[in-house]
Amino acid sequence: MWEASPLGGASGKPDADQKCAVRSYLLTALAIDGMSKKSGKSCYPVRKAPPQGVKFMSRKFDELIDRARQAQSKAYAPYSKFKVGAAILTEDGDIYSGCNVENSSYGLTICAERGALFKAISEGKRRFKSVVVFSDRLAYPCGACLQVLAEFSPEMEVCLASSKGELKKFNLRDLLPQPFAIGNEQ
Ligand SMILES: [Zn+2]
Repeated sequence: MWEASPLGGASGKPDADQKCAVRSYLLTALAIDGMSKKSGKSCYPVRKAPPQGVKFMSRKFDELIDRARQAQSKAYAPYSKFKVGAAILTEDGDIYSGCNVENSSYGLTICAERGALFKAISEGKRRFKSVVVFSDRLAYPCGACLQVLAEFSPEMEVCLASSKGELKKFNLRDLLPQPFAIGNEQ
């Protein structure tokens, strides 16, 4: 299982918040895998059942988070200093990753989510189960990325993960209930 890193406060030892965040992540991951019903006292509530409409992944989920974390280390973000990695899981089980790539002409910057998606599309993939967005704090995909993801799989799972061990999951439909589509104009 992926472990949050680094662990260590100013003293070099994990502080209470870090322990709490990591435990929350691990407990959530265990709940996702259905391996743990009770893991002792937690500072956060453990979600035992997925929200309606969200289909949790199983073992593949750890690999997806790890690929997103690795991609974050490749991010080119000299202007915002906000590095993001993303990994997207296709319906047939393949994973493609991407990172944000900034440019001195700011408008040319591309997000990690679209980088990963475009890589998959260019390999012939069209249907997706899940995407993990990994950064140093939980960050939601921007509207442009939500729209581009919805083009292919509007019901896919969107997972936010952080280097602090935080984790949130959504259905794309909840983040973008009304994506633009030709022919859907009111
Ligand atoms: Zn974006």
